[in-house]
Amino acid sequence: MQTEPTRKSRRFVPVWVLLCTVAMLIAVPGVWSWAQFRRANQFRGETFRIGVDHNPPNHDWSEQEGATGFDVDVLNDAARRAGVTLDWVFCPRWSSAVQLDGSIDLWPVGYYRPGELPGVHQTRPWNEIQHAWIWERGRMPVGPERLDRKRVAVVDRRVTQALVLQSFPNMDFLLTPSRLESLNAMCAGRADLAFLNTRVLEEVLLNRPANCRTTMFQVQSLPDLISPMSIFSRMESAGVAEVLRDRIDEMLVDGTVVGFAEKWFSLSGSEVRQASRLKERTLGLKWLAALCVVMALAIGLLVWLIRNLRLARAGADRSRQLQAEFLANVSHEIRTPMNGVLGTADLMLDTVADPEIREQIETIRESAYGQLELLNQILDQSKIDSGVLLLEMTPFSLRRLVEQVEKTFLPVARRKGIWLRSDITPDLPEMVQGDGLRIRQVLTNLVNNAVKFTADGGVEIAVRAELSGGTVAVSFVVSDTGIGIPNNVLGTIFEKFRQVDASTTRRYGGTGLGLSISRQLVRLMGGDLTVESELGKGSQFRFSVSLAASRAAVKPKAPLEKTVTPTGLTILLVEDNLVNQRVAQALLQRLGATVVLAGNGLEAVAKCRERKFDAVLMDCHMPEMDGYAATIEIRKSAGPNCRVPIVALTAGVSGEERRKALQSGMDGFLAKPVSREELALTLVALPRRASPAA
Ligand code: ADP
Repeated sequence: MQTEPTRKSRRFVPVWVLLCTVAMLIAVPGVWSWAQFRRANQFRGETFRIGVDHNPPNHDWSEQEGATGFDVDVLNDAARRAGVTLDWVFCPRWSSAVQLDGSIDLWPVGYYRPGELPGVHQTRPWNEIQHAWIWERGRMPVGPERLDRKRVAVVDRRVTQALVLQSFPNMDFLLTPSRLESLNAMCAGRADLAFLNTRVLEEVLLNRPANCRTTMFQVQSLPDLISPMSIFSRMESAGVAEVLRDRIDEMLVDGTVVGFAEKWFSLSGSEVRQASRLKERTLGLKWLAALCVVMALAIGLLVWLIRNLRLARAGADRSRQLQAEFLANVSHEIRTPMNGVLGTADLMLDTVADPEIREQIETIRESAYGQLELLNQILDQSKIDSGVLLLEMTPFSLRRLVEQVEKTFLPVARRKGIWLRSDITPDLPEMVQGDGLRIRQVLTNLVNNAVKFTADGGVEIAVRAELSGGTVAVSFVVSDTGIGIPNNVLGTIFEKFRQVDASTTRRYGGTGLGLSISRQLVRLMGGDLTVESELGKGSQFRFSVSLAASRAAVKPKAPLEKTVTPTGLTILLVEDNLVNQRVAQALLQRLGATVVLAGNGLEAVAKCRERKFDAVLMDCHMPEMDGYAATIEIRKSAGPNCRVPIVALTAGVSGEERRKALQSGMDGFLAKPVSREELALTLVALPRRASPAA
């Protein structure tokens, strides 16, 4: 058998897995971000020397302005983000400064092949420079060899030289101090063409030197000739170079670098487009990450809510169960003495002949039945209110049910001088499956009201059925020609404790609960209860329920009326309440049965071992051993009574108790208070499992 904690812990395994995943989703990026944060801030507050030379507009130096240019702006912003101060130092021979004398720690931008500059740290590239040829229209031949032995004006910078030399070894070079000078040399005929950085091309052409003013140029960009530019540093300052490089990544993503580039160069359309696409994509990624975190939090919250809901539901189930137990106990405690009152009244009616005393006893009986009816209604209402009313699903004959209700009210109707008839469609299936007792309760209430509120004419119960598939839709109409209901109260008649007016209670009695319970029962069964009425002419109550067709065989009618009695049977009566013991014993004896008494389950089991009985009437709630346990013991024993018919005779009337009784092995169920007729009917109709006791 599985223990409670094991089941609970199993149930929480998926919850734990989910919680751990959510925790990981939050923790891993958290730890990772913390490490990132520590790394990014490790040089906060420190100052580093960074070199700059004349290379406008990338970077430049003047005594008045200090370091200016695109690279300067980018590096300054990266340093601000990293909490680092940069001290810009003019340094025309930067590589040896970084490499050898240590007069600077960093160089903002440069291009070397890996390993070309030993002792210098080089970060990932953060910038790319593209180049183009520019020449005077018509001066250059066409074809692949056109560049051979041509003289090219190249700005005297190591990066540019290295790039051109390595790609075009057959060319002659004219080194110039600036890009403008390269253009000037070409216009003056000292070079065939110039080699320029595309970013500055537009500016150079717009501000061309005087001897180039009228020249028509031709430009050819070199998309494959790209110099990837990195930050350089001394080995000791590699850490801060990397931190600055990381910050530039952020700036590339958030558009800051493009902003600086736009300030210093004229960017090509594709460059701007690419940058904004990158920015959008990164923004999208950020949103995605934020969404993931929100989702993780939402999942966590959901799991937490589900768990709380489950706990709350378990609590509600428990309190519903307690309420159901309480109602069952109240019902039991009231029914037990009521059984004594009604049973004694029945017995007295048998013996008393004086009409006056008989009338008084009848009054006691009627009042007790009234009390019982009220108790039933209050219990039903509280069960419905607290959601513990459960419907049964058992096969029953609807036709027989309607006939029985009709038969019950026929004597009253006759006494009042009104007619009562039923009109049942021949299409009604013999057996249906559903809660027959509850349907009977609704029908009884409607017919009871109809008969009660009708003085002339009569009452009709009409039943129609519609079969589709395995379902039977049954509609009932209870019509009367009685006092009717005023229009203004028709809407409220189904509310609890509602009656047409206060005089109704005085004249006809009742509590105003019947219709409310009936409607709620019908709704529980998937239908509805409605009314049409005309004051002084009568009322029509309609309800419909959906039942399942059943293949169960119709039980033959018990072949008995008043004449049939269980005469000659020996019955073991198991009952702990002395009054009820006396009443049941007397009832049985009057029916001609021989009674053997047992005060609890244990005694009953013992008596069953001693001798054989024709039937056992078993109370369910008893000290020492209850009726269910006693039944199980009797059925288990190899004694003469292991197959004896056992009928529950109990004040516990809930469906649960009925089920428990049948499950323990009982054959029938009688609810207290029990009438003599019911008792006789049940005993006579019992399955004959064994021959009568000797
Ligand atoms: P009770 O009959 O116990 O008062 P019900 O809920 O069954 O409670 O009925 C509520 C009220 O509806 C009745 O008191 C009565 O005023 C009115 N009523 C019900 N059925 C009929 C009927 N067939 N004809 C006239 N009035 C009715």
